[in-house]
Amino acid sequence: MSVHIDPIEKKPVYHMLPGSRIFSIATVGCNLKCSFCQNWEISQCYPEEVKNPTKILTPEEVVAAAIANNCNSIAYTYSEPIVFYEYVLDTAKLAKEKGLKNVLVSAGYINPEPLKKLAPYFDVIKIDLKGFNKQFYRKIVGGDLEYVLAALKELKKQGVMTEIVNLVVPTLNDDMAEITKMCEWIYNNMGPDTPLFFSRFTPQYKLANLPTTPIETLEKAREIALKSGLRYVYIGNVPGHPGENTYCPKCGRVLIRRYGYAVLENNIRKGRCVFCMEKIPGIWDN
Ligand SMILES: [Zn+2]
Repeated sequence: MSVHIDPIEKKPVYHMLPGSRIFSIATVGCNLKCSFCQNWEISQCYPEEVKNPTKILTPEEVVAAAIANNCNSIAYTYSEPIVFYEYVLDTAKLAKEKGLKNVLVSAGYINPEPLKKLAPYFDVIKIDLKGFNKQFYRKIVGGDLEYVLAALKELKKQGVMTEIVNLVVPTLNDDMAEITKMCEWIYNNMGPDTPLFFSRFTPQYKLANLPTTPIETLEKAREIALKSGLRYVYIGNVPGHPGENTYCPKCGRVLIRRYGYAVLENNIRKGRCVFCMEKIPGIWDN
């Protein structure tokens, strides 16, 4: 079992309690097999293969440890929380009872019914939408794109704040026509207020032969997303890039200035832009 305290920006989640620390837990395993997995040491193995297994904390112990460490939220993350679903559900229920917030970091490869059961206990769900091409999903990710889109629609239906991350892998899912289609789908099905990240791939695991994503590719993708009407589009894994900041869609000023996982400036008060009073979607006050 992995237990860490992370800045919430590391998830990445940008529209909930910026600058806060989130108690993060994971067991091993995943229901997908991405060749570009960035956490493959814990995701691509079975529990019995773990070399130095640590004690699994009970849900009560997780919640108590989060509170003792001054965290106001818990993330179910690193590997794929869908594979430890019952543990997630029990812990999230208890956390909610104790006044903590819950964040699920998932690839969304789950049926609508079990997702619907999780939804009421989660404040933000972050979904990795790995691309917008069925063949790519089948061959490189080891799953079916349709299920992920169905899960996203279910989250919209349940009214859970959803942030979407797309890891852009050179030559595999960096086709701008596909990215355009993906952005249009998000706009039409999830709405213009859905935060979207284009994250930089660094070569590893089975795709160590590919280059790092060029920054221009991420910038082009971000431009497409903004043009298709999405209001909060970010560039991930490029510390210091202006695409890390949250901008007000109405007046254009910087609302949250970031550098990597650090928050340098926050101009949101009571959920609104301090300059023009535009309402900004998210959870800004605890
Ligand atoms: Zn503004």
